[in-house]
Amino acid sequence: MATQDSANEKVDVVIVGAGASGSVYAAVLAKAGKKVVLLESGPDWQLGDLISSDFWGRRVKPAGPPFLLEGKNPYGYVYQAGWGVGGAALHYFANFPRLMPNDFKVKSTYGKGLDWPIDYADIAPYWDKVADDVGVSGDAKAEEIWRPAGKPYPMPPMKTFPGGDAWKKGFAAVGLRLTPAAVGINSTDYKGRPACIYDGWCHVGCPIGALSNPLVTYLGDARKAGAEVRAHATVTRVLTSADGKRVTGVEYFDAKKEKQVQEASIVVLAAWSAQNPRLMLNSATDKHPNGLANASGFLGKYLTAHFSSGTSAMFDEDLQPYMGTIAAQYFSYDLYDKNAHKDKGAFGSTFMVAGSAQRYSALGGVANSRVDLFGADLAAFMKRAARGYTRLGAFAEEMPVLDNRVELASDKDEFGMPLGKITHSFNDDAVALFNANFDKGLEIAKATGAKEVWSNKGAMPTIHLMGGTIMGHNAGDSVTDSYGATHEIPNLWIAGPGLFPTSGAPNPTYTIFALSLRGAENLAKNWGTFAG
Ligand SMILES: Cc1cc2nc3c(=O)[nH]c(=O)nc-3n(C[C@H](O)[C@H](O)[C@H](O)COP(=O)(O)OP(=O)(O)OC[C@H]3O[C@@H](n4cnc5c(N)ncnc54)[C@H](O)[C@@H]3O)c2cc1C
Ligand code: SF4
Repeated sequence: MATQDSANEKVDVVIVGAGASGSVYAAVLAKAGKKVVLLESGPDWQLGDLISSDFWGRRVKPAGPPFLLEGKNPYGYVYQAGWGVGGAALHYFANFPRLMPNDFKVKSTYGKGLDWPIDYADIAPYWDKVADDVGVSGDAKAEEIWRPAGKPYPMPPMKTFPGGDAWKKGFAAVGLRLTPAAVGINSTDYKGRPACIYDGWCHVGCPIGALSNPLVTYLGDARKAGAEVRAHATVTRVLTSADGKRVTGVEYFDAKKEKQVQEASIVVLAAWSAQNPRLMLNSATDKHPNGLANASGFLGKYLTAHFSSGTSAMFDEDLQPYMGTIAAQYFSYDLYDKNAHKDKGAFGSTFMVAGSAQRYSALGGVANSRVDLFGADLAAFMKRAARGYTRLGAFAEEMPVLDNRVELASDKDEFGMPLGKITHSFNDDAVALFNANFDKGLEIAKATGAKEVWSNKGAMPTIHLMGGTIMGHNAGDSVTDSYGATHEIPNLWIAGPGLFPTSGAPNPTYTIFALSLRGAENLAKNWGTFAG
């Protein structure tokens, strides 16, 4: 039982969460000479803790959510959330697609969803900077068929394998284009980190540092610049001044479950889309009765999730599916128009990825997509899959709605903090898009000449979580400005995918890094305005 309440020396910045977004703030602000403390609820993982084994890999994943999961399509928390230094990005796949110009003004253009307060051009220079900082492999010039020109990636595309190449014929046959996928993985040695060895263990963390997890990128830089990472420190409240106009620090529970206070001139919440609003709701006071920075009533609202329609193909040829990374070998934005599947009643962008490694131990998941097979048939299928299996993914976008939300529940966690409750349901546009992408996937797969093709259709998945602390123009329409500063409390900042008003279809972390860099540089540059 926690009883002790001790104060730590005041610092310039306390960052809650040592994952993708928090590590960027820590690096930029520590390099700017600020005294930075990162509070992280999980362990202080090191590269040596990352063991290429599905069994050992479980240690770096959260054991269970501090959330109740409700709605027609409950959010799949455990798969996408992080725990410990490095966050979810410690063992992400490092697919690094970016948003497209048509993602930023969805409401004004189509009358659905929301607008961002910024455009593609505002983020583009930061995608380029992140690529140099963390190391991205890909072919930027080839991507210009879909997007404005930018800087070349610092490394050439990754090697491809037959499991990826097999899709080229199918895409060409239906008139869709593929380019090498942009990934945050080293195709060559980069900044003292080795090139990838293509053994496909990225999902439990890359022990050699070829994958751009925060430990070997921004967090490493932050530590070198003097930032302190305090692990096993779980924040439960953000503390405010008596007049409610400033935050003064945070309350947290340390490894001994003792209550501590960390005072700071700036608080950055970087604990992920659902945790940030949970903390802000739990920090309500008489000056902020509905939670911090919640004048709009949108705190915790407008959550969005990606969903993916997967298509499988089995070939007689040896596709070496055990070779590669878990990230894609190729990607396509050819179905990115929000109305690409209008004829099927669908709305929203689709982003397609082809050819990720399927180690033997991952084929259990493949077998789950063939529930019609048992006994000897299943054994024969698994043998063929070990050589001849490959798959295609179509990630897609749902529009933000108020009802998809996180709020506080009455049940409490071990620190006495109310659990969050995430309510999530897909609307008709999203369901139609999910189905349309299965049809398109089968059309492509059949055109590859594969021996067998099938849809991996099950319950509609929820992948990545965005929104909850959306950015906008003012306190009436959003929680933060485009940099992440809350409209109502200038020294309370939010970082991460929670800022996205709409989700687009691509994986979010390249954009999370870019927005965090943009926000952190702005904070460092205008320190006096925000820190007071
Ligand atoms: C298996 C997997 C594969 C993925 N693949 C991709 C991919 O290919 N491409 C892509 O773009 N994205 C991918 N993602 C998603 C990506 O990892 C996340 O989008 C990204 O890490 C989110 O960044 P964040 O800073 O918001 O949160 P995180 O990186 O998760 O960091 C949040 C941190 O806050 C800590 N925290 C939470 N609550 C508290 C608290 N109360 N007090 C203190 N600390 C707290 C957590 O422990 C965590 O370390 C993947 C994720 C997973 C799990
Ligand atoms: S495939 Fe490459 S990035 Fe993935 S774990 Fe192996 S070496 Fe690391």
